[in-house]
Amino acid sequence: MGVVVPDSLDAAVAVLGAHPDALLLAGGTDLMVDVNEARRRLAGEDVIVAIGRLAELRTWTHDPASRTVTIGAATTYAELEESPLADLLPALAQAARTVGSPQIRNTATIGGNLATCSPAGDGLPVLSALDAVVRLIGPDGAREVTVDDFMVGVKRTALRPGELIVDVTVPVLDGWQGYAKVGVRNAMVIAIAGVCLAVDQPSRTVRIALGSVAPTIVRATDAETIAASAVDWSAGTIADADTERIAAAAAEASRPIDDHRSSAAYRRHAVGVLTRRLLRRAFPR
Ligand SMILES: Cc1cc2nc3c(=O)[nH]c(=O)nc-3n(C[C@H](O)[C@H](O)[C@H](O)COP(=O)(O)OP(=O)(O)OC[C@H]3O[C@@H](n4cnc5c(N)ncnc54)[C@H](O)[C@@H]3O)c2cc1C
Repeated sequence: MGVVVPDSLDAAVAVLGAHPDALLLAGGTDLMVDVNEARRRLAGEDVIVAIGRLAELRTWTHDPASRTVTIGAATTYAELEESPLADLLPALAQAARTVGSPQIRNTATIGGNLATCSPAGDGLPVLSALDAVVRLIGPDGAREVTVDDFMVGVKRTALRPGELIVDVTVPVLDGWQGYAKVGVRNAMVIAIAGVCLAVDQPSRTVRIALGSVAPTIVRATDAETIAASAVDWSAGTIADADTERIAAAAAEASRPIDDHRSSAAYRRHAVGVLTRRLLRRAFPR
């Protein structure tokens, strides 16, 4: 087994071109758990490419003209929690604060969360609700994929052999946004259900994305449609009965399973509760 530490993105792409099956290592908080628990075995001929310190993947930029923020794949949750990034993407900062412990947040990256593609990945409902776009680079050049198309199934992505995630571009919305999750305890917990709700005043839309309740993140599109017409956009309010209808439609959009963390019924119930809670924060009485 060889570990390569490239000193630039170009060098990383060249190594991946020569070894398309190489294993990428960013913060290692998913990968090393898999190795330690023997879910992933490393053999002598395996090549590991450590990308966590690549400067090109550790930066973020804000483009006020296009109203977008582009976040390098090796940006950590600790960085996402901080201003000014947290002020531009508050729901992502909120999701970041729920991830693991400070030690995990100091090393775990948004690119790792995307590539692992767990339905319980806390960054993913936010990226979905905000219609983020993932930029990939590989032997055949760069390409962009919407985050919803990037997530193909449980721990399955659109990444092709030899490709890596460079960054993710996230629209900056104008309106309240938040993320909430339910777990078996208050901290250091994998989500049983997670919801991101993001309001965009100019387009009069409410985006709702659900985590941990389907093979990949789900957009609750019926709930979004009801919300768009139910909100009184000039007053910034919503009737209680409409809040209930939207919460019920969001719960209906989930496709949860029973597993060791929760029953499907509880997960569906939790989606309704979280959606109602977020709607009340977005549109206080
Ligand atoms: C104690 C603990 C608590 C945790 N709590 C949470 C939690 O609350 N919420 C949550 O969502 N997650 C949690 N996690 C999971 C993990 O921290 C996150 O999924 C994290 O975002 C993974 O990032 P990483 O940089 O550590 O990825 P790594 O472990 O380095 O990599 C993960 C996978 O992504 C691939 N990869 C990494 N970067 C790239 C890239 N740029 N391009 C292509 N592929 C890439 C790797 O090859 C590997 O397959 C927890 C983990 C631990 C150990």
